[in-house]
Amino acid sequence: MGFMANNDVFVPTLTLADGSEIPQIGLGTWMLHGDDAYRVVRAALEMGYRHIDTATLYDNEVEVGRAIADAIRAGEVTREELFITSKVWNDDQGREKAQKAFQTSLTLLGLDYLDLYLVHWPCPQRGLYNETFEAIATIQGLGQVQSIGVANFYEEVMEDLVSATGIVPAVNQVELHPGFSQAPLRALHERLGIVTTAWAPLARGDVLNHSVITGIAQEHGVNPAAVVLRWLVQSGLVAIPKTAHRQRLLENLNVNKLTLSIDEVSSLTAMDHGGGSGRLYTDPRNFPV
Ligand code: NDP
Repeated sequence: MGFMANNDVFVPTLTLADGSEIPQIGLGTWMLHGDDAYRVVRAALEMGYRHIDTATLYDNEVEVGRAIADAIRAGEVTREELFITSKVWNDDQGREKAQKAFQTSLTLLGLDYLDLYLVHWPCPQRGLYNETFEAIATIQGLGQVQSIGVANFYEEVMEDLVSATGIVPAVNQVELHPGFSQAPLRALHERLGIVTTAWAPLARGDVLNHSVITGIAQEHGVNPAAVVLRWLVQSGLVAIPKTAHRQRLLENLNVNKLTLSIDEVSSLTAMDHGGGSGRLYTDPRNFPV
């Protein structure tokens, strides 16, 4: 499935276990603040992005919400067409704090429901992730969030969450890019029916000069970022690249402009075994430190 954005760009979607559709390319907004956040989200919506990823931590929910409201007012998009994600920050774990944090996000965004709400990190040392996830499941029951999920959950905490709460998250948003493709975790997701979203899908730019990627890009006459995002989409994942540049927004959305061969997909996946950067960020087992 999918939808036509502007400029004849087709954006594929996946169906979550709860029946909702998630666009396979979304806009990441970490490190976008103030007027920049407004300008980039507004430009993205205008060119056909329908999936926006924010979080309490990013401190931009007001600007993201204002861009959404203005795009709706301008007739560029309807609320129903959008897929808006936010996340409960680590300090707000626990039943009451999480429910309050959700209401704050909703107010800052100026929305009356979210499409997806995530537990941002498991913080295993605190032992509150099951309670926090159950709290957001209650919010889902009240109809204020369509889908619920987690981020940065590794195999042990995912299995614990599912057995303790009896609820399978619709999404797990994790660090994933060439050189760190998270094969064992994705196998667990597949078994449980969880959609994987890749954060830092471009490895924050680190991998874009790698010869495997530039070689495939030259072959297809596209830029290296397009190769990486197509690899993720063709592998059945969602990706949420961040860019502050208009030209790159459109390039990143246009993942259907090329198809990779099975060999090309395999050579990108094989970067796990050399040449890639490996994990770039803190292991969630040890975060917060
Ligand atoms: P990305 O892998 O998306 O990389 C972003 C970097 O790549 C920026 O420096 C950007 O530069 C550059 N870039 C973007 N598009 C292109 C392109 N077409 N060609 C060349 N360079 C490009 O890293 P992020 O860390 O931003 O991750 C994406 C999103 O994932 C975040 O914004 C956030 O929404 C989410 N996230 C979630 C986390 C979680 O714990 N759940 C943790 C971290 C991120 P420029 O802006 O100058 O174009």
